[in-house]
Amino acid sequence: MISEKDGIHIKNSRYVADSRKASGEVNIASHAHMDHAYQGESEVVCSKLTQKLLESRLGKEISRTDHPEIELIDSGHILGSSAALIDTGEEKILYTGDVSTRDRAYIEGFNPVDADILVTESTYGIPAYSLPPQEQIENRIKAWIEETDAPFLFGYSLGKAQKIQYLVKQVTDRPLIAHGAVMKMNKVVEKHTDHSFDARPYGENKELLLNGEGIFIGPTRFSKSDAIEELVEASGGVKAGFSGWGMTESYRYRGGYDKVFPFSDHCGFQDLVEMVEEVEPKKVYTHHGFDSEFASYLKREKGVNARALKENQSSLTDF
Ligand SMILES: [Zn+2]
Repeated sequence: MISEKDGIHIKNSRYVADSRKASGEVNIASHAHMDHAYQGESEVVCSKLTQKLLESRLGKEISRTDHPEIELIDSGHILGSSAALIDTGEEKILYTGDVSTRDRAYIEGFNPVDADILVTESTYGIPAYSLPPQEQIENRIKAWIEETDAPFLFGYSLGKAQKIQYLVKQVTDRPLIAHGAVMKMNKVVEKHTDHSFDARPYGENKELLLNGEGIFIGPTRFSKSDAIEELVEASGGVKAGFSGWGMTESYRYRGGYDKVFPFSDHCGFQDLVEMVEEVEPKKVYTHHGFDSEFASYLKREKGVNARALKENQSSLTDF
């Protein structure tokens, strides 16, 4: 009834969520990250902000629609992100998309609702990724920004980068110097929301980084680039990564970071467990990250009927 193949297919593909191409009778786009971005021609159920963000990122029009069987609920992942509560008439199915139940920076966390079936992401579905209290994480970030001379900050360009900039602006007036990918997403967010980040483009403001005055913000994939390594070296800079993956040491190593903060836009392990308990579903399907591990944990420790979606099927990678 529920399977994962280019998105999540529910009720034999009557409802298809977060697929790039596949077209169900009803298509749902939970948010505007590119790994989920709907690029087909059909109408799609999504928030107005997700529509605008997708249009900016894809450079094409997205026809947004509502559907009487679907209620969109803010999922607290990035601006515009939504969970979908699907009422089939027989049961309620809650599809979380990417989700965080925590209030963070300027965003409010997801408030779980009752459902018969829960389809949830399980990115951080093992206990090693139980995140510290959010207030503690953000206070540490702000204190570190205040005491650090030439910080170079890295997070993905839509969502994480804006939250980091927001935290920076709470503690200092030093100029924010943003990589083009972040500038582009800032512009879209600034156009469609009340947020503003006042960041300056990196290309024309390297001086402000070299003299240690500016604070750099860029996408994660840029953290080990030659251009950045040179700037960090010349300015005596310090590189910091922001991700729930930062709960384990390998993240620091992979990104070449001096400092890591487990600031996440996803539920940590404990957040996931609490969310499942609040939804009180009869059945849970997990996908992404530690999906099998999280389903096993729910069965073993909580007596919840749970299964990883990938166990349902053969996928292309099996061939
Ligand atoms: Zn996402």
